[in-house]
Amino acid sequence: MINLKTLSKSELVQYVISWKQPTYRASQIWAWMYQKNVTDVDLMTNLPTQLRQKLKSEVWISQANLKTQSESKSDQSTKFLLEVANSESVEAVLMPDGNRNTICLSSQVGCAMNCAFCATGQMGFFRNLPVDGIIDQFLAIKKQFLTTQITNVVFMGMGEPLANYQQVVSAVRILTDPDGIGMSPKRITISTVGLVPRIYQLAREGLGCKLALSLNGTNDKIRAKLMPINHSYPIGQLLSALRSWVEITQTPATIEYVLIKGINDSLTEAEDLCRLLKGLRCKINLIPFNPISGSDLRRPEVSQIEEFRDILTQHHRVAPIRYSKGRDIAAACGQLRTVYEKTGKRLSPNPQKA
Ligand code: SAH
Repeated sequence: MINLKTLSKSELVQYVISWKQPTYRASQIWAWMYQKNVTDVDLMTNLPTQLRQKLKSEVWISQANLKTQSESKSDQSTKFLLEVANSESVEAVLMPDGNRNTICLSSQVGCAMNCAFCATGQMGFFRNLPVDGIIDQFLAIKKQFLTTQITNVVFMGMGEPLANYQQVVSAVRILTDPDGIGMSPKRITISTVGLVPRIYQLAREGLGCKLALSLNGTNDKIRAKLMPINHSYPIGQLLSALRSWVEITQTPATIEYVLIKGINDSLTEAEDLCRLLKGLRCKINLIPFNPISGSDLRRPEVSQIEEFRDILTQHHRVAPIRYSKGRDIAAACGQLRTVYEKTGKRLSPNPQKA
């Protein structure tokens, strides 16, 4: 038995042809799975009975199982711990913000990148998620919020999306297929620690999605301390890759900069950041560090965060301050699963101080 959600659209077409069915059946099945969120073949009422019988004998359709969910009191975000792809627990978040409703997806179970400030990094790497495990997170949240239009998707949950390259690319293709979920690729952002060869590959993939780079440091010494991947791909290489990204895709990049007290938040570093990014078409998201348990790292004072921002603004940089959503529900990357596994039960609304 194969899980239909592991197939690309063209593979599904091939499958349907092998059953001697017209190709439009593939579009119908696709629409049932991705538009109507149906997992029971018997509910696919526009398919002939015989085809339904055949489907039932050869395939199954996965769905995520909701383990726990917690709603933020401060900013309306809801975080989910979901069981996907053979009972892997991963986190996904719905973040409403004005007219936008963004879903944050996980691409891996755990993460191998071991960034000093990240809760997912602390838990280590378990495995890559298959494409169905990624898409089922999206569909599970959609099912809970039927009347909410999901406008954006960001790969900023657990894991390093470009370390699970093929499955993430397949997920983006499913998210953007007009017969199914039909999202505009411009509303999908892949966030990366900066796997340089993959950035070049993604630029040539032609997906049309956006790219965010977690920079977090203005020189190799500091960045490598925060993000060990910098030993493999130092800042110089990263920025060259990013310039190529902008040139090839003709879309500006996003730089993410987590501000950590006394580590990378000085005003000199704000100046350094401007110098480093000179001539690069990009927006800079400043993310005040969201404290995680077992770490001494701290968030800077608001005044320091604002002064840092002001320097970027003086250099004509667009640099909004983005407080992590759901600070009261452990919404920084990887925190929900960590708390869940420690307590083994549903979260209280305020599991740890942020
Ligand atoms: N691996 C990818 C995506 C996951 S992390 C990446 O590194 O981009 C998504 C974003 O959350 C990154 O920009 C990361 O720097 C940020 N982040 C992780 N832990 C954080 C924390 N404790 N506080 C604030 N931002 C955090």
